[in-house]
Amino acid sequence: MHTDFAHLQKRLPAWLEESRQLAEHGKVAGYIPGLARAPLRRLGISLHSITGEQLAAGECGAAFTLQSISKVFSLLLALMDRGEQGVFEKVGMEPTGDDFNSMLKLELVEPGKPFNPLINAGAIAVASLIRGDGPAEKSARLLDLIRTVAGDATIGWNEEVYRSESATAHRNRSLAYFLKDNAVLDDEVEPTLEVYFRQCAIEVNCGQLARMGLVLASGGKDPRSGSELIPRRYVQIAKTFMITCGMYNASGEFAIQVGIPAKSGVSGGILALVPGELGIGLVGPALNDKGNSVAGVHLLQTLSRQYDWSMF
Ligand code: GLU
Repeated sequence: MHTDFAHLQKRLPAWLEESRQLAEHGKVAGYIPGLARAPLRRLGISLHSITGEQLAAGECGAAFTLQSISKVFSLLLALMDRGEQGVFEKVGMEPTGDDFNSMLKLELVEPGKPFNPLINAGAIAVASLIRGDGPAEKSARLLDLIRTVAGDATIGWNEEVYRSESATAHRNRSLAYFLKDNAVLDDEVEPTLEVYFRQCAIEVNCGQLARMGLVLASGGKDPRSGSELIPRRYVQIAKTFMITCGMYNASGEFAIQVGIPAKSGVSGGILALVPGELGIGLVGPALNDKGNSVAGVHLLQTLSRQYDWSMF
């Protein structure tokens, strides 16, 4: 079934306000100082369809950092740079059931390779696979890919979020040293972390994120020209990780309740897509105990039920 945009246009503002009420039950991420000031009740959404329709509601123009959503695109760039074999000899394909920043399995399960590219350990390993002469070039290449996919060359980094994360990321630093010790990182720890913190600090709004989702929904093609931006096979891999691990430890529940590929970040952003149909960008900084936007997940659930989005 195709989403009825005329119907959606009438109903979206009320559904959004209903979901916004849930924000009271969530908390804004405070462990990165640059994120802690985001308004708890902010909620915005943009939807872009493959047929060129666009809709938005709430605070969809507000800027927020990609955080973990960036892991989808660093994975895509690493796949384009190194191929499947080059990436999956350093990082696995399985969900963990542990927290996103856990180091438990790195020591418990041999050979110390991170379980998947969407947990922090896996994303740090992936950051080290991006080609480039030093962290500045690697980061610039990833920003370029994101600008291309978002169709907007003005996208950049939030320097304050970058600096505040870099100054306080003791846990990510220890993960990176573990990986280095296990010979998962070829590069040194600090240059690798610079790439990782910069990718997390790339700043977007809901419309730019929706357009990024639309490229994934189109199998890697530019939605307007039809030209290939990312090889279809790599987009297929990224979407599979989004389904199995994209919503932290609530990925199974999200697959049951919403049933579409999605990736969330601690800024409250969610990138979601209905394959072959829609790209969705959303922000709601109040997070539930699993780290996902509480109002955002509720809104996506309402929309999925209404328009029969589940892939299953
Ligand atoms: N920059 C964040 C971190 O590494 C990203 C985490 C997230 O969005 O889940 O802690």
